[in-house]
Formats: sequence, structure tokens, C-alpha cells
Amino acid sequence: MTNLFESLKLEGLDIEPTVCARCGFCTFVCPAYLDTLWDSQSPRGKLYQLKSLIKENKPIPSDFASRIFYCTLCGACQEICQTNIPLLRFWQLTRQEIGKLEQWPEIVNYIDDSLQQTQNIMEMDQADRTLWTDMVDDLVEDRIGIQAEVAYFAGCNISFKGTLAHMGENTIKVMNAAGIDFTVLGDEEFCCGNPYFVAGGFDKGKELAMHNIKALKTLGVKTVVFNCPGCHRAFAEEYPHLLGKEVVEGLEFLPFSEFVLRLLRDGKIKFRKEYPHEVVWHDPCELGRHQNIYNPAREVLKAIPGLKLKEMKHNRNKARCCGGGGLLKGTYPVASVRVSARRIEEAEKTGATILSSECPSCTMSLNDGIENRQSKIQFKDLSQIVAEALDL
Ligand code: SF4
Ligand code: SF4
Repeated sequence: MTNLFESLKLEGLDIEPTVCARCGFCTFVCPAYLDTLWDSQSPRGKLYQLKSLIKENKPIPSDFASRIFYCTLCGACQEICQTNIPLLRFWQLTRQEIGKLEQWPEIVNYIDDSLQQTQNIMEMDQADRTLWTDMVDDLVEDRIGIQAEVAYFAGCNISFKGTLAHMGENTIKVMNAAGIDFTVLGDEEFCCGNPYFVAGGFDKGKELAMHNIKALKTLGVKTVVFNCPGCHRAFAEEYPHLLGKEVVEGLEFLPFSEFVLRLLRDGKIKFRKEYPHEVVWHDPCELGRHQNIYNPAREVLKAIPGLKLKEMKHNRNKARCCGGGGLLKGTYPVASVRVSARRIEEAEKTGATILSSECPSCTMSLNDGIENRQSKIQFKDLSQIVAEALDL
């Protein structure tokens, strides 16, 4: 048997369950608790159960392992925790412990096999990595694998899911309109490793991380642009932790919103057309609470003439999750849609006609929520609004 709770002990986090004051503030913000109303599913409840397991040096039983994966890793518990427990890292390391006990949920094992065999989460041939460029072939075909200071990193979801390809296409159109000399990695783009990081399989994500950094540096890249906050967080936060800060030195990682804001400030693009719509913004957890990035998207939207920006009751660091985080969409798809539908209900209350965000996972989940509620609100990814407002 492996050393129980070794990873928590190594980072000094094994004592955190004893730090919990059981105040219960975390219960009211936790999508998993709000979905089940079981205290055993709340952050407080899970810490209570873990306290005994750690104290008695007992392995995590399978039913409790499932509870740990019934979580979107939204970070709302960490944000509100009265005793400042670093809960996000704590849940990740608990998932790592579950992995060591070979109790990962089936979907995580499937993703693991797929990543080992194909370097992407879809079990697709890497040669098909540029399938997403179909509509913008003429803008991309001469750019694959070329030397350039700016790279676009599409990520597995945008690369292989036809319903998300428009996010990559719009980003390329914006780069083209701004006259940016950019490159894409093509089949040298491997999964960012975020599914491993979310499941606590840090070591397994190391090779992918190293490959991506090497591939970017070989092309002389200095700035990497992402539509996916999961990929962005992997590069900006997990890679330095995993590989060492020196390995990522010389590279900057920008979410789409921050990149567009820079283009606006540098005068490389300008919104001229009226966009007479009311838009409500949803903060992706992996950009917002996880990385404290809230303003760029709002500033971009405010720069569009005629657009009226609205906010939901729970916004910025208090934003509720879309339901797709933490692999919940794969582990508990029905519960994930219930969480998404709750977010849509909140968006509807603002009276906005368009709901926007910048994340492939949020895009899928929020669209599921719209379908579930038969809502009239329309979802548009930020790249779509920017491309429309620029008449691209
Ligand atoms: S990360 Fe989100 S879903 Fe998971 S326990 Fe915390 S509040 Fe609940
Ligand atoms: S908010 Fe923090 S201290 Fe309070 S019950 Fe939740 S985990 Fe424990």
C-alpha cells in the first residue's frame, strides 16, 4: 500500500481538516451542496470525514472518493473560507490520493489512456489537430509550425469539437485583422495537461507540459494566447510549479480577453460598429477565482459601442460555477446540467438577451443549461462578440 495521504502531508495540508471551524459558510456557495443539500457533500462535511480518515490512517473508501469527484473545483469554498484553508489545492491533492489508490472515476481513466496514447483527450489522431481551422484555412495553413513571437494555443476542446471551433476561428480572424504575425503548433500541440492537474495526476501531466514549452520555445514564441482558461491556468500556474519557474521564463500567457484589450490599447483594432445588445458576463472559475482575472473581458465589452454590460447577482469572485468544472461534466453529467441551469436562471433575471463568457467548458455547460430551461437567452463566446463587433 502507498503511504496514505503522503501528498497532503508533504505540503503540510494534512492538518487542514482540523483547522476547519465548521462555520458552514462554504456550504451556501458550494454547487455540490446546493445540488444535493447533503452536508456530507459540502466542503465542511468532506473535511470532517477526511479528518477521521487522516487521523486513523485509513484509506479513502470508494463511496467517499466519488464524493470528492462530485465537485466542480470552482473554488467558491476557498474564497469564503473563514479559516483560509487552501481548499482548491487540498481537493486536488485528495484526488491525487484517490488516484494512487486506483480509484479514479472511469472517465478519468479513459482520459488518462487517451492522453497516454494520443496526447489529446478525445482519442483522436494528432494529425487532425488543425481540424478546427476548416473555415479559416487560408489564414492558418502557412502558419503551422513557423517561427513567430505570438502563438495561438487552441487546446483539445476547440481543436476537436466542431461546436467549439468557432472560438479558434474568431481568434485567428482578430489576429489577422490586427496584423499579428502568429504561429500555431499543429500536431506539435499536445494537451495542456489540465485534466491531469484537475484529477491530481500531476506527474502524468509533466511530460505534456515539457513538450508544449519546448515546442513553443523552438519556434521563438514569447506570447501565447488562449481561449481556454483551463489551458491558460495550466501554463501560467501549474507548469511553473511542476517544471520550475526558469523553464517557463521568457514566455507570457494571455487569455483572449487580455490579448484583445492589448490590441485595443495599442490601436491595432478599433470597434466602430454599433452593437445594440444587452450582454451579461459569466466569470469562468479558472480565470476568475483561480487566477484573479476579472477585468479584461469587461473592459473589452465596454469598449464596444452600443453594448450594455449587465452583471448577475453572483459575479466576479462570488460568481457561481457553470457546472462544467472539475471534470463534473464527465463524472456526473446530469448533476452538471442542473448546476448549469441554475446559472442560466440567474442570467435570465438580468433581462440581458446575450450571455457571454470566454471558456470552451463554460460554453458547453451554459448551452446545456439553456437547453434544459428552454431559455430564450442566447450564449455567445467573447470571441464571437468581438468578431461580430469588428465586422469580421
Ligand atoms: S470547489 Fe466548488 S464544488 Fe468543490 S467543494 Fe468547493 S465550493 Fe464545492
Ligand atoms: S468556511 Fe472554511 S472553516 Fe468554515 S466550515 Fe467551510 S471549510 Fe470550515
